[in-house]
Amino acid sequence: MSNEFKICPMCQSKNITYQNNKKWFCPDCGFDLYNNVAASVGLIIVDTDGTIIFERRAKEPKKGSLTVPGGFIDQDESAEQAAFRECLEETGIKPDSIKYIASFPNTYPYKNITYKTCDMFFTADFSKTDIKTKIVDLMKGQESEVVNFESVKIENRKQIEELDIAFDSARNALLFWFDNIKK
Ligand SMILES: [Zn+2]
Repeated sequence: MSNEFKICPMCQSKNITYQNNKKWFCPDCGFDLYNNVAASVGLIIVDTDGTIIFERRAKEPKKGSLTVPGGFIDQDESAEQAAFRECLEETGIKPDSIKYIASFPNTYPYKNITYKTCDMFFTADFSKTDIKTKIVDLMKGQESEVVNFESVKIENRKQIEELDIAFDSARNALLFWFDNIKK
């Protein structure tokens, strides 16, 4: 991780540095910009056949790897609102309800800046929706984000550890789900 800026955006000094992995500081004008932890959400969706629905990522970082529906929380938005919104945007359908399960930290490199995030995970319930076969059959992936959906039957922890999951936070959330929530 570099996160180095060449010049201070306030006074153009070249002495700006990235300090303690958490803020930019300019000793010449006192400019102080915290690279605060960003909040995001993820949804663990168990389909009617017991499989977990993954998305194959259409963009960097980790293009081509698996993830769960979700994304960054917008300004002035709650985590719950973000979970419903991101699910609708990325899959075309919205859960009837969601339930918070756990949060995990993550590292998200994007266009030469490394962001530290706190990812909050929810399970999603679609039981009020009219589903004849599988939830995944109702989904239509957002082109910019999703190559396709992949349904994976999770039988054991080792499988979660070995899946090509883009981010550690989602992997940890799935392990948490497997240990504490899976019926
Ligand atoms: Zn400055």
